[in-house]
Amino acid sequence: MSRLGRLMPVYSKRAPMLLQENIPLAPLTTFRLGGPARFFVEAKTPREVEEAVAFARSKKLPLFVLGGGSNLVVADAGWPGLVLKVAIPGIEPRAGIRDGKVLFDAGAGEPWDRFVSHAVMAQCAGVECLSGIPGSVGGTPVQNVGAYGQEVSQTIESVEVFDLQDSQVRELCPEACGFTYRSSIFNTTERGRFVILRVTYALTPGGEAHLEYADLKRHFEGRETRPNLAETREAVRHIRARKGMLIVAGDPDSQSAGSFFKNPVLSEPQHQDLQKRAAAKGLALPSYPALEKNHKVSAAWLVEKSGFARGYGFGHVGISSKHTLAIVNRGGASAVEVVALKEQIQHRVEEIWGIHLESEPVMVGF
Ligand SMILES: Cc1cc2nc3c(=O)[nH]c(=O)nc-3n(C[C@H](O)[C@H](O)[C@H](O)COP(=O)(O)OP(=O)(O)OC[C@H]3O[C@@H](n4cnc5c(N)ncnc54)[C@H](O)[C@@H]3O)c2cc1C
Repeated sequence: MSRLGRLMPVYSKRAPMLLQENIPLAPLTTFRLGGPARFFVEAKTPREVEEAVAFARSKKLPLFVLGGGSNLVVADAGWPGLVLKVAIPGIEPRAGIRDGKVLFDAGAGEPWDRFVSHAVMAQCAGVECLSGIPGSVGGTPVQNVGAYGQEVSQTIESVEVFDLQDSQVRELCPEACGFTYRSSIFNTTERGRFVILRVTYALTPGGEAHLEYADLKRHFEGRETRPNLAETREAVRHIRARKGMLIVAGDPDSQSAGSFFKNPVLSEPQHQDLQKRAAAKGLALPSYPALEKNHKVSAAWLVEKSGFARGYGFGHVGISSKHTLAIVNRGGASAVEVVALKEQIQHRVEEIWGIHLESEPVMVGF
């Protein structure tokens, strides 16, 4: 068998989909670590998704749905079943304007940033602040991707899914997706039930750029005219690159899964307790209006104030030199090392601040 694995057709009535064996997953993830997939298939159409699911079922293989691999930690042993990479392409604006919006249908396999670029070029507002986020269109509803004051839940019109429960294709409205901060039914109550095939976004033609976040406002300080969508997109990409949150070839801080911890959402008593603990140390909680309105506190602040500086690390893993929340693979890291660093940070933050930091990336094969 070649290094790339054996190829065999899944179904043979039409052009067959290629099923591969023992495919390394590390190159298919932004973290670039972890073991192989026992079986691997790439689906370019909804029909191929259905066929791949049928194959996994017939062989009783556990199924993992892969998008752009930018929010994953794959176990060193890899995935024992079938990895189905959703590669459905296409970005189609629908004709006409409805309630002041243009609808765009995007295949789940489209790279997300290509979709954002497309929207910005078409002068349609709503996703410009989400520029530079890696991964696929299909990955965005899963954790309700957000940055710089925008979240995809604000623009998602519907999500077309293949339902593994009854093998039907259906369309979910935003309410059915249960979007909240970094969460939806896809990563909570209905985890593993749906394969996302297509997402429809409702964008505002001729709309203004969303400039709520402090970093963005600072970037345009002193400017007299309002930045347009393209300028906002460039600014976001620029700020992200400075923070190691844009994947740039050759940047050692780029091999990561982005922010490793979610900003904790606290209850009022928890927030008061945190303030007391901070005051006892002569510290004041930082004020971030965008976080506070949702009762969130900065996970980066908690990590820093627990003794973890940028650049901290051991072995082949560390904290990014540009961003306290990103754990990076410095080259040749194992998933075990990543988990050890994650747990070290979680234990220390909990010990000092009484807060459990929830990790953001999906753990695959653990
Ligand atoms: C440098 C960097 C910066 C980042 N910045 C941000 C940020 O600012 N904001 C933010 O929210 N996230 C950010 N992320 C995280 C990540 O990019 C997003 O979560 C992204 O949407 C994940 O999409 P993906 O296609 O890569 O999904 P994957 O990593 O492949 O998968 C993630 C989860 O989604 C599921 N999934 C993926 N595709 C499908 C599908 N078609 N159907 C069903 N389930 C699917 C997978 O099964 C898995 O559970 C960042 C990551 C990196 C590496």
